[in-house]
Amino acid sequence: MSGKTLIKVIVIGLQLIACTYAAEPRNEIFSSTRFFDALSSEERQYLGANPLLKVCNVTQASQSNASLDITALITQGTGLRLIASKPYAWKQALDGLQKGDCDILPWATETEERLLTMNFTQPFAEIIQVIITRHEQPYINDIGLYTDLVFITESDNAVIDQLQKKYPEFKNIRAEQTSQLFDFVIDKKAFGSISALYSVGNLFNKETPFELKIAGKLPREFNDIVALATRKEDAILNSILNKAVSYSDKKAIEAFISGGAVFEYDPNVIDSKSLWAAVLMIPLVILLLWWNRHLRKLNHCLSKTHDELQEKTSELEILSVTDPLTTAFNRLKIDSVFADEIARSERYGQPLSICMIDIDHYKSVNDKYGHLIGDIVLSKFALILKDNLRTHDVLGRWGGEEFLVICPQTTIGEAQITAEKLRRVIENNDFSPVDNITASFGVTQWHPGETQEMLISKADYAMYLSKHQGRNKVNVSSSQSDLQSLEKV
Ligand code: GH3
Ligand code: MG
Ligand code: MG
Repeated sequence: MSGKTLIKVIVIGLQLIACTYAAEPRNEIFSSTRFFDALSSEERQYLGANPLLKVCNVTQASQSNASLDITALITQGTGLRLIASKPYAWKQALDGLQKGDCDILPWATETEERLLTMNFTQPFAEIIQVIITRHEQPYINDIGLYTDLVFITESDNAVIDQLQKKYPEFKNIRAEQTSQLFDFVIDKKAFGSISALYSVGNLFNKETPFELKIAGKLPREFNDIVALATRKEDAILNSILNKAVSYSDKKAIEAFISGGAVFEYDPNVIDSKSLWAAVLMIPLVILLLWWNRHLRKLNHCLSKTHDELQEKTSELEILSVTDPLTTAFNRLKIDSVFADEIARSERYGQPLSICMIDIDHYKSVNDKYGHLIGDIVLSKFALILKDNLRTHDVLGRWGGEEFLVICPQTTIGEAQITAEKLRRVIENNDFSPVDNITASFGVTQWHPGETQEMLISKADYAMYLSKHQGRNKVNVSSSQSDLQSLEKV
């Protein structure tokens, strides 16, 4: 037989011993006929008045209706009408009965002192007191050998007074809540707990769920012999109740008592060690959460700074290749594009043309309208060029009021058409307050072997021709021989 099974057998055994009844006549089934036959005429008269009686509602181990239920069970068939009073702890219930706040007090043990003010029926049950310890403790046969250890009891369990009377050195803690009967033992704040089997039996009936066992019972002298108590002056009621106990359904009462109080104890409750661990974890978790939040903030800040930096970098990149006044590419950039395009044409044998543009009589604009207006004209001029070029044509400010357009994959004929279009747009544009603005154009095409400088010279030459022909003209220069003719001029 395993240890667990042995414990269960002992528990069931103790359970069976739990309810032994007073040796009164044991009629198996309640007989209301016999009950009524036994009543005196005075008692019949009392019952005939059909009084409503209040049962002192002693909360037995959290089972709120146990007092009313047991009284109703004992008096069933008698015609007594019962209701429950407000809930009482044991000592308050005694007071409640005396003050007339309730009329019947169940679970009452007869004492000499109480007999002065109360009447008691014969006992309806004798409930044993059990000792609960942790599993590793030995079974307890004689509580007298353990008086140096600490035990915990429910605060209103009279057994502790009886124990201390017999063993004056007996140490005990009074539980504020029934759950402490278990918690204090699990946490080793008490060696064991002492409780009526009625209170804890239901829990151990189901299983022995945690580190506890029923390690023994107190001797019979400590049994809770319980009866129904009434006020001294309600003698007729006491006598009726006494007869009700006599003829009550003993089996039903036994079943009720052995069922035990419906006390639920959650074995998953956090023990004190886990609680401390949890308490210590809280600052750590808070610290981690704070750190996580802090890191996220830093990350956000970093990525914002990174985005800003990237934006600034690209702004700077644009600025470094742009002419601030005209927003066309600056000389440095247009030079580099020019070199790249010549290299590309050389590699792929594609045509490449350029167009040199110079504003006519621009000096007189400055002279007449001032440099500020001159600047505005210059920037408008560049904008018009940009708007009228194809997307792959590249515009750059060559210097002063001169611009260079690089036209990749473009023949000299196509570049001439573009230049002519630009010339006309400029000519027809309103540059007010300046009267009218024109420009002279020089177009040329790259031939294999020609350098950047050679190409610029040819374009300059063509533009010179345009100036020479009275300005606002487009001229082309197709070969190096044009330059030689220029030298002769
Ligand atoms: P042409 O028709 O022969 O080209 O005559 P032009 O007056 O345009 O030629 P010139 O080279 O004599 O004069 C160019 C003037 O452009 C001289 C210079 O002061 C002016 N200029 C150059 N860059 C700027 C600029 O950024 N802003 C302004 N307002 N004027 C500029
Ligand atoms: Mg010029
Ligand atoms: Mg000019």
